[in-house]
This record gives sequence, C-alpha cells and structure tokens, in this order.
Amino acid sequence: MNEPRRCRDCGCTDLQACSGGCHWVSQDQCSACAQKNITIDRLKRAAKRIKKDRGIQHAKALDVAAQEHGFSNYVHARRTIERRAHA
Ligand SMILES: [Zn+2]
Ligand SMILES: [Zn+2]
Repeated sequence: MNEPRRCRDCGCTDLQACSGGCHWVSQDQCSACAQKNITIDRLKRAAKRIKKDRGIQHAKALDVAAQEHGFSNYVHARRTIERRAHA
C-alpha cells in the first residue's frame, strides 16, 4: 500500500493542491513551498552541485536547479524571487 503523497511543509496532497496550484518538486515537497523558501543564493548553490554531478554547463545547471524548485527556468525563478523581495 502506498501512502498518499503529502507535502511535508503545507500538507497538500494530489487531491488538494495549494491555492494557485502546485506540483511536486521532490518526494515530499510541493512547488509552492519550494518557491516560498528559495533564494537566488540557494539556487546558485544548488546549481553548483548539479553542475558537478552532471557535468553540464553552469547556465544549464541554473535552469535545472530552478526547475527542481518548480520554476520553468532560471530567468523565471529570478524574476519571481526579485519581485517577491521588492513586494
Ligand atoms: Zn507544500
Ligand atoms: Zn502544495
């Protein structure tokens, strides 16, 4: 039997997503929560790890890091984070 998937931060499930919608970015965290806690700094650190793990270009790694946190790409992530910082 599988446990129903549930976000460890907000408790949302496949049947009950966050308002505004969310998707899974890891086994137990949804995109809404991942985006809430992310900073440019953290994204860059994650990209560094991904770059080393996969041997890909830095720009590509930034995109992958952003996608792991529920963004479409790094530009989208940066725009979202910057807008939030100025809100
Ligand atoms: Zn969540
Ligand atoms: Zn959620």
